[in-house]
Amino acid sequence: MDHSDKPIAVIGAGSTGSSVAYHLAKMGRKVLLVDMGQPASGTTSRSTALVRTHYSNEIVARMAVYSLGVLRNFGKIGQSGFVNSGMVFLGDHSLKDGMERISSSLSKLGVKTESLDPIAAAERFPDLDFSGIDFVDFEPESGYADSVGVATSYASKARQLGAEEIFGALVRRLELDAAGRMHSIEFVDGSSIHCSKAVLCTNVWTNSLLGNTKHDASLPMWASAHPVAVLRRPKGYEGVRVIVADLENKTYYKPEGKSLFLVGSLDPKIDQKKIDPENCPSDVSFEFLSFYAESASRRIPAMKDGVLHSSYIGMYDMTPDQHPIVDELSEMGLENVYCCVGLSGHGFKLCPALGLMVAEIAAGSTNHTFDPSYFALSRFTTGRLLQSKYVNIGTIA
Ligand SMILES: Cc1cc2nc3c(=O)[nH]c(=O)nc-3n(C[C@H](O)[C@H](O)[C@H](O)COP(=O)(O)OP(=O)(O)OC[C@H]3O[C@@H](n4cnc5c(N)ncnc54)[C@H](O)[C@@H]3O)c2cc1C
Repeated sequence: MDHSDKPIAVIGAGSTGSSVAYHLAKMGRKVLLVDMGQPASGTTSRSTALVRTHYSNEIVARMAVYSLGVLRNFGKIGQSGFVNSGMVFLGDHSLKDGMERISSSLSKLGVKTESLDPIAAAERFPDLDFSGIDFVDFEPESGYADSVGVATSYASKARQLGAEEIFGALVRRLELDAAGRMHSIEFVDGSSIHCSKAVLCTNVWTNSLLGNTKHDASLPMWASAHPVAVLRRPKGYEGVRVIVADLENKTYYKPEGKSLFLVGSLDPKIDQKKIDPENCPSDVSFEFLSFYAESASRRIPAMKDGVLHSSYIGMYDMTPDQHPIVDELSEMGLENVYCCVGLSGHGFKLCPALGLMVAEIAAGSTNHTFDPSYFALSRFTTGRLLQSKYVNIGTIA
């Protein structure tokens, strides 16, 4: 195993990079964590941070189960702010196949899930209106966490374990040696630092860094803009309430804190719309706000008396099969350069498992807690995609 005296540079200190840095530092590796902003200042700060295990593919479901366990018991690392609200998934008959198969494979992994018919669901969740719904899956152990708290906790624990950090510094490009191996990272001010390896956790900014490094280097990923409405809940519908993934309306509803309520989209059309990450729109349109408010009050009648608190747009780093790319980029001629990007709008909850997986491959370990081959870049050319059991639902891949 290679124990170079030069650090492994982890570029990007969101929930992904901070977790990678923590896991590498815990393995005794020399680590340099770098960000152009502060830890969690990228898309992590915009996350609605749902923590669920409902996933189509077994490998990702196993990673979600592991990660849920870590986020529920985060005390040795820091504060995750996990709230065990439970989460329900509502579908009509067209989603029957997907929901049944997911629920049965989750049960085999030991996840508590309950399949309810709409009548039983209405008794269990009297706040919700189940019109148009044929199938309900309930995950009692899911919830939500504090994405910024998790990322900053991982970053500070990595520092305690010896990682060095440079924040407020944009990495302009990676410098390679004559054989195409990672040599150093070059900052925008022209200075550079030697590194044995680099791990890109740079989300929607990845292709810009790769393009500056090698003119033809780019990954099959793009940025998309996701509007979120924040509503204030009326009296009587406050406190911890179940999260609703309304697959029929392609929206999700997340009661947060004492009195807020977040609405976001599960519409794959939004995922497909490519935007320039440097010019992400900042205002949520009136059409979206009305659609969100109407959908929320149809599904949760109490929300007819909710009022708009604020709104914002966050970016997803999408890939064609809605799953991350975790790999060494040697097939692009970049040796000792690794990436964990393309998280496609569901990477927060997976950050404990992704951080461990990436640290293991970057450290050269041959023991893999989670098999990284599922996330290899080559799947986009070999066609071994991580297909969702859902058709036409975004994010819940
Ligand atoms: C609206 C919204 C809702 C979401 N909801 C959920 C959810 O409910 N559950 C869930 O699991 N996930 C959710 N996600 C997705 C999840 O938040 C992200 O997948 C995850 O937080 C991404 O973390 P990251 O570390 O990969 O990216 P980021 O947090 O974006 O971190 C990347 C970092 O890299 C830095 N960087 C980039 N390029 C450079 C460079 N060249 N030099 C130096 N630094 C650089 C940036 O400054 C940034 O801090 C949501 C995302 C959004 C936007």
